Amino acid sequence: MDGVWLPAGSFLISVLLLIVYYTKSNTKSLETYIYARVIILNFVFSLLGMGVYIYAMNIGYIPVISVIQKIYLGILSAIGFYMFLYCVAINQLKDKTYIKIKNGAGIFAIFVVLGVLSLPIETVLYDSVLDVGGISYYCAMLGIIIFFVLIIVMTIVYFFKSRAKFKKCIPFLVLFVLCIGGFLLRKYYPEVITETFFFSFFFLIMYFTIENPDVKMIEQLNTAKDAAEKANRAKSDFLSSMSHEIRTPLNAIVGFSECILNENDLESAKGDAKDIIMASQNLLEIVNGILDISKIEADKMEIVESEYSLKENLDSLVKLTIPRIGEKPIEFKTKFAPDIPSVLYGDSAKVKQIISNILTNAVKYTDRGIITFEVNCINKENSCSLVISVEDTGRGIKADKIDTIFNKFERLEEDRNTTLEGTGLGLAITKRLVEMMGGKIVVQSKYGAGSKFTVYLKQEIRNTLLKQEKSYTVTVANADFSNKRVLVVDDNKINLKVASRMLEPFKIQVEECMSGEECLAKIREGITFDLILMDDMMPRMTGTETFHELEKIEWFKTPVVVLTANAIEGMKEKYLKEGFKDYLAKPIDKLELERVLGQYLISNRESKEEELFEPLPEELFDINVPLNEDE
Ligand code: ADP
Repeated sequence: MDGVWLPAGSFLISVLLLIVYYTKSNTKSLETYIYARVIILNFVFSLLGMGVYIYAMNIGYIPVISVIQKIYLGILSAIGFYMFLYCVAINQLKDKTYIKIKNGAGIFAIFVVLGVLSLPIETVLYDSVLDVGGISYYCAMLGIIIFFVLIIVMTIVYFFKSRAKFKKCIPFLVLFVLCIGGFLLRKYYPEVITETFFFSFFFLIMYFTIENPDVKMIEQLNTAKDAAEKANRAKSDFLSSMSHEIRTPLNAIVGFSECILNENDLESAKGDAKDIIMASQNLLEIVNGILDISKIEADKMEIVESEYSLKENLDSLVKLTIPRIGEKPIEFKTKFAPDIPSVLYGDSAKVKQIISNILTNAVKYTDRGIITFEVNCINKENSCSLVISVEDTGRGIKADKIDTIFNKFERLEEDRNTTLEGTGLGLAITKRLVEMMGGKIVVQSKYGAGSKFTVYLKQEIRNTLLKQEKSYTVTVANADFSNKRVLVVDDNKINLKVASRMLEPFKIQVEECMSGEECLAKIREGITFDLILMDDMMPRMTGTETFHELEKIEWFKTPVVVLTANAIEGMKEKYLKEGFKDYLAKPIDKLELERVLGQYLISNRESKEEELFEPLPEELFDINVPLNEDE
């Protein structure tokens, strides 16, 4: 029984290791998870190693010893598999790749274990020696050697790629050498059983070195610290980039406004005003971009689906793009497939935003040549797979930078961009919107030659006719509303002034009031208006509260349109649900204002005249339904 000391020592170490490991809190990394499994296996391995030796020395019934030896070798192979897995986990591969490797190695390990259990084993017992051999034994050795060879290959790769990862692999190499030595020793000195001891000892050392919970905790803290520092740096970069991006249009707004103040020539004042409008629109785009990305990151962005006409969206995108090209020698080509369904169901606003972003970039980063805007579709039953591409002959993107353009605030070749406005948010937003809608965006680019952005999106096909919002096509641009009275309610004097000035060209009689209470008092006094434009965020009584109070007045029939800076997505729907007749966002869009005025200031008599006849049923417009000839 002299040979029992090493297996017994190994068993004691494995028990000790389990107690220490499971009584202390551990970090939750993949490596630690694998380690937790392997020390349980090692405990069983040590127990069997010691048990089989004691049994062999005292009872010595060979068939039982052979069965235990097979289980023992099977567990040894499983330990080899887990150690290999541990080395793979060090590399922090992507989940999918790790699972693929794990499954492949797992299948191999299962074959080895099955081979060990099913193939014949030779057990020799004499004096105080327990020797083992046979195909089962060599199968286990083959398995463990293959795993160790893979570990060595990985260690060599880590050596060239990352010293930190390489360091973590060194203990495995030491164990490998010890194991080989142990098995050779056992071949020549069969009474010395070393392998279980080596393994337990190795796992103990591992616990106090690379798997040390304190060291791991410090490592995790350092990683978290690095991430926090990176996030902080990103925030600072963001602030300085925002400061620059916001100040640029602001500079134009303030500067040109000053110029207008000192300008006597009306024409040049108008020119300055146009530049102010351009700069303001740019500023608005930046603000919207920041709001969008914050919303996406806070998981607050929602897909709002409805029936829409893609063709109409494409037409309006083309109309928006042409003026952006301006004087540049660029040919703008459009190729829209004729089989694009007339009605689709999906988030029309987001589809438009996605296309608009890539079109805007194509124009921005192309100085001359051709921009091709192409939309194709594959229609299957009720679904339409859209393939939207924008190809340009612009500056192109370097191959190693293609992946980074979708990062937030990432702008390539900043030095070449000094005259081109941008925040580096457009593509980050675009990619996330595409992914939210279950689609894909692909970039192909040749540096110096051009780029092609392709978006794949799936939308539902609807065969119904689009229910158009009832809108009046009356042109109100030069309309005379001198007999109309509009009340503007806003707590901010400048906003009141802006609204009044924008209503001036229509010769409307505008009244202003600065609070909900004041508005209520006017209406209760019996003053009548044709339209009320109501701000929402006002102190004491919000616009919504004022509106609900107004609704309680029996004879009150004036349409109330909310005029608010609360313009993030979903707000329009919220206000319409509250009962407001319509929604106008600040800054006020001239065309939107004209639409609202046209819709609510056209006298009731005129609209009644229009409705002398009942509207015809929608089916009549469906060309697929034959007209009843009898009628
Ligand atoms: P930006 O506001 O800077 O345009 P984006 O997120 O839209 O931000 O784009 C990120 C970067 O990708 C741009 O700064 C530009 O360097 C590059 N990029 C985007 N589209 C193109 C294109 N069509 N051609 C060349 N470079 C492009």
